[in-house]
Amino acid sequence: MPRLTEDWLRQVLRTFYQQRTLTRTDLLNATGLNPASASHAIRHLMDRGVVVKTGEVESNGGRARDVLDLNNEAGYFVAVDLEGASIRFALTNLVGDIRFRIEKNLEPNQPIDVGVVVDAVHSLLNQLSDLQRRRVLACGVSHPGMCDELGRITAVNLGWSAVPLLEGLRSALGFPVYLENAHRTCIFAERWLGSARGSSNSIYVIVGNGIGIGAFVDGKILEGHAGLAGEIGHITIDPHASDLCLCGRRGCLEAVASCASIARQYFSQAFQDSGPRAAHRVTEVFERARQGDALATSVVDRAASYLGIGLAHLVLLLNPEIIVLGGEILAGADLMLGRIRSEMERHTLPAFLPGLEIRASSLGLDIGLKGASALAFRESLGAPGFLQSLAGNSGMPRPRVRQGSARSKQGVVAAK
Ligand SMILES: [Zn+2]
Repeated sequence: MPRLTEDWLRQVLRTFYQQRTLTRTDLLNATGLNPASASHAIRHLMDRGVVVKTGEVESNGGRARDVLDLNNEAGYFVAVDLEGASIRFALTNLVGDIRFRIEKNLEPNQPIDVGVVVDAVHSLLNQLSDLQRRRVLACGVSHPGMCDELGRITAVNLGWSAVPLLEGLRSALGFPVYLENAHRTCIFAERWLGSARGSSNSIYVIVGNGIGIGAFVDGKILEGHAGLAGEIGHITIDPHASDLCLCGRRGCLEAVASCASIARQYFSQAFQDSGPRAAHRVTEVFERARQGDALATSVVDRAASYLGIGLAHLVLLLNPEIIVLGGEILAGADLMLGRIRSEMERHTLPAFLPGLEIRASSLGLDIGLKGASALAFRESLGAPGFLQSLAGNSGMPRPRVRQGSARSKQGVVAAK
């Protein structure tokens, strides 16, 4: 296959992945390909069941135009989410819909090793038929902490220091494996599958035990010199605050506005309870604020104000069009979003506000798995052999053609 044609196929696949349902005219507008190149690429993908016709729409001239859709079940990814109190594994279809999942709780003080991760992926793969297994294209891993150039992970919550995860998974699985920090996989998920779809300047802010961001700036993922860009949790938001941060300094954004901090502030003031369990009870604080508890309301408002100021810094620095908030903070979004938005606006220049949206993530707790799946698709698209693996699958299910329909849903693995 000529090299240029592979580029056409990649452009067409990327556009279908982002927009799902298209006419040929939509595709030409989105890719800038000439009609002959686009037709060539579409025919190739339709012949192999990767793109399917799902309906027709009337054009202005009265001639029916085909509605084309990505066959979501044309391939699968293994998605692994190592961030959080439990580690999660899933089989997803091409567009990140979860078809099967396994979850393992992390026991405190019992670090896991690479073998546990490999065994869990094998358990997932063992549930599949041979045909389904042949359609698994790659594995994406969303991990906490840092990854060095050899794919070794250092992460406090896993008890890992330079653990060779990439090597362990690659040698055990026999298909490509891609690793990425959780903040960045979350913005992949939002940009490719969620609220920030198609946006070139978008930020995902995760507010949970800590606070961090993943950002697309001018269409490129923000990484930084050592891959550490986005540690917004440790900017000093209030130099006079007494709140102590895990990093050892006082007044960090994370120390005054993370969910663990909100819970700690409330329970230490209300019940003199500042033990480690209190840090996990943020939903109780939100509930008490909803019931009119004055202390809970004041703690939540203070955190929302600081978050608003933190977001104002991001807006001035990066000029985004969408900021998506995620993590445990979503449980209190009804209480906090308005205050966060107004405080952000108060500390930003007016020129930055038109067209700027702040939204709660719609992807929920599955965002890490969806992000890992989006990472696998994004990296696979540029990898040698991916187009052959995807388009070489035989006997793929093809959705039935329905007049005027825009969507096909056909699972070949039971969703759980
Ligand atoms: Zn800090």
